[in-house]
Amino acid sequence: MAGQIERWHRQAKDVISAVLDLLFPPTAGCVCCGAMLYKGEKCICAVCREQIAPLTEPTCSCCGRPLAYPGLCDLCCFRTYSFIRSWSAAVYQGVLRKCLHRFKYERATCLAPVLGSLLAQRLQAAKGILRFPLLVPVPLDSQRLHERGFNQAELLAAEVARVYRWPMAKKVLRRLRPTLPQSELPENKRWLNVSGAFVAEGDLSGKKVLLIDDIYTTGATAEAASQALLKAGAAQVYVATVAIASRRCCR
Ligand SMILES: [Zn+2]
Ligand SMILES: [Zn+2]
Repeated sequence: MAGQIERWHRQAKDVISAVLDLLFPPTAGCVCCGAMLYKGEKCICAVCREQIAPLTEPTCSCCGRPLAYPGLCDLCCFRTYSFIRSWSAAVYQGVLRKCLHRFKYERATCLAPVLGSLLAQRLQAAKGILRFPLLVPVPLDSQRLHERGFNQAELLAAEVARVYRWPMAKKVLRRLRPTLPQSELPENKRWLNVSGAFVAEGDLSGKKVLLIDDIYTTGATAEAASQALLKAGAAQVYVATVAIASRRCCR
């Protein structure tokens, strides 16, 4: 019976993906520049891929923002967070910005393995600190999930989970209420927008959680989600995102 259900589930998924391919035909070229893809290239051409420069040290030892010196950035000097620290793979600009836009708003889900492996690479150096964390993707609210059809953070987390064989809990974190897109709000409104917006369900006691999201901007979303995870018993929360908004001063 279980095997039958699994088969039906797989068949239903195949039908849905065939319908989506009809509605949104997969592009034959690079999702970023449209150039023809060569053998071995998937979704993005090598030229575009090489333009995404992975972040190198020094970065802020709290939020992971690129710095000219080791230590804390302006924002982290004046703010405390519930998470211990955050890592990002690259700065939110140029090709990466374009890729994330296509990924989220134009259904270019073929970018998930590309962006997810970029994030996994960044976490290579943090493996000693993280050891065997529980991956928790930042959830969308149900209406946005329904409109988009997928949660980008979940696809990214799945790739990290695949690379390191770390466990992932997709349903542990939930949005209690819809929030406005953070990108549409000025910085001072972003904290209020997501404050108390998450709840974590299930037993997280003693767990080391690695929260996964696509972009880190002010840290407001990561903070609100971390608070919920700690409230549910998580011992420590770390954060990892594909991109981080670059900014010099945050006061
Ligand atoms: Zn390209
Ligand atoms: Zn910082």
